Amino acid sequence: MTSPASGPSAADLPDYAPIPQSALGPALNEQGYYVGRVERNLYWVTDGVYQSAFLTTGDGVVVFDAPPSIGGNLRRAVDEIAAANGVPNTVTHFVYSHHHADHGGAASLFDGDVIRIGHEETRRLLLRDGDPARPAPGVTFKDRYSLNVGGDRVELAWHGPNHSPDNIYIHFPGHDTLMFIDVVNAGWVPIYNVNLSEDVMGYMGAPAIALSYPWKHFICGHLGRLATHDDVAVHQQYIADIEASAREALASVDPVPFYVAGGQNVWAGVKGHLDAVTERAAAPVIAKYTGVLAAADIGEFTRTTTFQIMQSLRLDRGPSGPVHP
Ligand SMILES: [Zn+2]
Repeated sequence: MTSPASGPSAADLPDYAPIPQSALGPALNEQGYYVGRVERNLYWVTDGVYQSAFLTTGDGVVVFDAPPSIGGNLRRAVDEIAAANGVPNTVTHFVYSHHHADHGGAASLFDGDVIRIGHEETRRLLLRDGDPARPAPGVTFKDRYSLNVGGDRVELAWHGPNHSPDNIYIHFPGHDTLMFIDVVNAGWVPIYNVNLSEDVMGYMGAPAIALSYPWKHFICGHLGRLATHDDVAVHQQYIADIEASAREALASVDPVPFYVAGGQNVWAGVKGHLDAVTERAAAPVIAKYTGVLAAADIGEFTRTTTFQIMQSLRLDRGPSGPVHP
């Protein structure tokens, strides 16, 4: 292996707060994955960072998402469980939660006669992106789709854009489980920019939609363990605290000095003002959640999320500013 030409050494990088034990999941096996039973014939797989799921039935296996970081280990996990349960290991159906490559980039490992299912926008985006690793789904839906395989039922639903325009809710009514990816990170803060989300209002409202389903187990797509109702509640409080703090900071930071200092450079005024609002809004949230949510002390995550939410408050909800008389 050659080392990259540039970049810091690990010893030069900052130390962060220890990860709360409650944020970590089960140990991985020698191949680098963990497969666990969610309920009955529904299983989840993790590499400690990404999550996928599959349903074993008498008629074949249904796979939900194929993160490339799990990759071939997903096949190994399916084979291992199918052999242990004496059911076929043939993957007959593949469901995309959304079009992003980091959750679907190993979809092409399941080829042949597999029926791929996804939201109609997932199909449109995958055709646009043209990544051979993520074949576009042949079966699509607009609002709802009931998938029945081998006596099991899965309810797919789209309730509007959130993290991505096409992110769907995958409900397993017979398994007391909801799979909903890239909004709540069980036990951890969202990463940059509202967890890299495109529709901030949709993202903020999504946990309430997730809670409107009956479930005991929540497959959230990231990190090493399944999520609980408590995880969703803490996430909602974190986002609500950012929203309240952003409102307070927008109302209390005086923009005038920044624009006076910027003079003709109005963008300098914008930067000074919005940076000050962001810093004031994010600081108490970072302090409150350090030690509660893993990686909350990586301030840039909360600051960039705060910036996005503060902008959404201005631009989506309004007002963006006073109306000129
Ligand atoms: Zn995503």
